[in-house]
Amino acid sequence: MTGLAFAVEWLFVGWARSSLRGLLKHSASSRRDLWCFLFDVTSVWLFLGNLLTLGVLTWLVRRIQFEPIAPAMSVWVWIPIYFLVTDFAFYLLHRALHRFPSLWALHKYHHSATEFTALTARRLHPVESALSSFTFVIGGALVGVPTEGLFLFTSLDFCRSLLIHSNLQSTWGSVGRWLLISPAAHHIHHSADRKHYDRNFGGIFCIWDRLFGTWSEPAFAKVISIGVADEVFNRRTMAEEIVFALKESGRSLFASVFQYRGKRG
Ligand SMILES: [Zn+2]
Ligand SMILES: [Zn+2]
Repeated sequence: MTGLAFAVEWLFVGWARSSLRGLLKHSASSRRDLWCFLFDVTSVWLFLGNLLTLGVLTWLVRRIQFEPIAPAMSVWVWIPIYFLVTDFAFYLLHRALHRFPSLWALHKYHHSATEFTALTARRLHPVESALSSFTFVIGGALVGVPTEGLFLFTSLDFCRSLLIHSNLQSTWGSVGRWLLISPAAHHIHHSADRKHYDRNFGGIFCIWDRLFGTWSEPAFAKVISIGVADEVFNRRTMAEEIVFALKESGRSLFASVFQYRGKRG
């Protein structure tokens, strides 16, 4: 699947701008993408995410029992329902990741990529990776999706995320304008330009951004560069960056708790 995404991108943008060339250049940013991808597919991130969240999310998944809303529905009904429910959950999570400093400290790791390599899709802090998986599983439990359905969803979602983090510039025409998040739309989300901040949070569908006023039309936005203003990333070792994000997240969380208690007291 990853090979196919690389091939499609190469075909449309040419070798000079392809992700494969970017990975071979071996810049600090592309190196991070590659290692995150390898740790993700070998479940190292899953293990680390569980460890860092003290297994709370896994425990919740086992404990929470939903009354599925689509137990006897045809597969053609629950698939779109599941995609909509899960994608809306992802949209809310993504907004929270940008809204709250303790979560942004973790999500910033994804945004610290300075070039797209398709694998940027998997450049996630292990704790954010655990949170994303949690939304998929909870959405599945809520709708009553069988394991094969979850597998289908995660496979398609994997493909989608590789494409929107590739160097394809496509807006996908009317489909990208009204239904799906295109590569050009997600590039705006990664833009280093302040005027593009907090736009296009959607994962699969762009309808949430349109409904909640966070949509930015790719046809009218030029993305010059991507990344975050923070100079910390792509300069240290990967382990140091992961720990740094975690510490920053913890500090922000404690600061918010004390601020809240201070206001109440
Ligand atoms: Zn984001
Ligand atoms: Zn992204």
